[in-house]
Amino acid sequence: MKIICIGRNYAKHAKELNNPVPKTAPVVFMKPPTALLVGDKPFYYPDYTKDLHYECEVVLKICKNGKSIRPEFAMDYVENVSLGIDFTARDLQSECKKNGHPWEIAKGFDNSAVMGTLVKKEQVEMDAIEFQLKKNGAIVQHGNSKDMIFNIVEIICYVSKFFKLNIGDLIYTGTPEGVGPVAIGDKLEGVLFTKNGAVKVFETEIK
Ligand code: MG
Repeated sequence: MKIICIGRNYAKHAKELNNPVPKTAPVVFMKPPTALLVGDKPFYYPDYTKDLHYECEVVLKICKNGKSIRPEFAMDYVENVSLGIDFTARDLQSECKKNGHPWEIAKGFDNSAVMGTLVKKEQVEMDAIEFQLKKNGAIVQHGNSKDMIFNIVEIICYVSKFFKLNIGDLIYTGTPEGVGPVAIGDKLEGVLFTKNGAVKVFETEIK
């Protein structure tokens, strides 16, 4: 399986990191399968960073194989959604960006992709998925997928031009504003607002 990630997909988040807002195409990067962290397991703070950031994101799970998917069919490729964290070693990423290097080591390291419990897409407003990240009980991110620069259909069409999508692939759709650092001992909880109310889809402790 692949983990495809979209960067800078919320204007306010791009601005908070002084990045340009993408206008013509999404920013795409990948994490290897070894990045996946499921089942509310703890995340162990790695020794190669001193500035580990959370980025809470809506995650799409791909349920059909497809290539160069057309907009009218894009939603057929998603049955379930959830939230995840795109953990980022911000210090390593800044160094990579400064040197014009790829940023895999800052984004694709082991356990850097926290993945929550799946929710059927019918249980959320797919055009306006509301979600929160809580750190130690306080809301630090509160996003809504309607604020995405490139929406879910546009993301699926765009990435499937370059990468054939396979059943089980995950797409992290970008984070809203409010990213920040974590420390050992912090507890992160992802809350997805469904038609039946708020659902905690993951809980991860930093160790
Ligand atoms: Mg991200």
